[in-house]
Amino acid sequence: MAESKARKTATKAPVKAAVKPAAKPAKRPRKPESHLAMVRRARKINRELAELYPYAHPELDFENPFELLVATVLSAQTTDLRVNQTTPVLFAKYPTPEDMAAAVPEELEEIIRPTGFFRAKARSLLGLSAALRDRFGGEVPGRLEDLVTLPGVGRKTANVVLGNAFGVPGITVDTHFGRLARRFGWTAEEDPEKVEAAVAEIFPKSEWTMLSHRVVFHGRRVCHSRKPACGACPIAPLCPSYGEGETDPEKARKLLKYELGGQPGQRLRPPAGYPGLPAAPGAGGAAGPGAGDGQGEVA
Ligand code: SF4
Repeated sequence: MAESKARKTATKAPVKAAVKPAAKPAKRPRKPESHLAMVRRARKINRELAELYPYAHPELDFENPFELLVATVLSAQTTDLRVNQTTPVLFAKYPTPEDMAAAVPEELEEIIRPTGFFRAKARSLLGLSAALRDRFGGEVPGRLEDLVTLPGVGRKTANVVLGNAFGVPGITVDTHFGRLARRFGWTAEEDPEKVEAAVAEIFPKSEWTMLSHRVVFHGRRVCHSRKPACGACPIAPLCPSYGEGETDPEKARKLLKYELGGQPGQRLRPPAGYPGLPAAPGAGGAAGPGAGDGQGEVA
């Protein structure tokens, strides 16, 4: 009874954030949802997220596949913003795999130190740069099976590179994507590869890359790991996990983390033609992304 009252309250409050007001939150299904119903609901969530985040994009700055590969490796266990603040100096000093492979390890470590785990990451960068130079003619390969042979590059990193630098559809299961896929009831799997396989069954290939961005955007801004802002979540009516976080609309709104400094996205150097929408005034302030939400893997 109290819960349904709280849900009604959540629907009435005005939402000033850069999100649509939540309609009636979802009622928990009384009987198990059929697979077909889940697929329909999942695709509806994707459409809603597309409206909410029309500007969803990779939040790492890069200008070529090599830069994206390096930035993604660096993003493990840190924020994309931190990586974006680090890479300009890095790429100015080592613009190609050949340059990076020849780097003095201690100098490379010093530059990437702010991203954490800098010794392991430096080893990965030196190894993958040498591999690109020696085995791939200094070019980043555009095939998953080649990318995952590079030091420090797992399936997740490879999918980021393929999807965003080569236009090959890929589902990137990082910590946000996995958490939200489970909260949405798309899968109960914990293993990223199993999550990827389950989600791939639900959506057409053409949606995979943008779906990944949208879900990660929602995870960073609304559906946080510890305190999801359910009371201010525009897709609450479609979410079986409504109530896992704060349902009071006012308290929930304070949990939202929208674009830094009112600017769209976190990219310091947005791509040309970037259609970003400025965050609405008072849309949750200048809160930054949580730590440890990068998409890379520590070697
Ligand atoms: S914030 Fe709450 S309602 Fe929204 S997607 Fe996350 S768990 Fe579901």
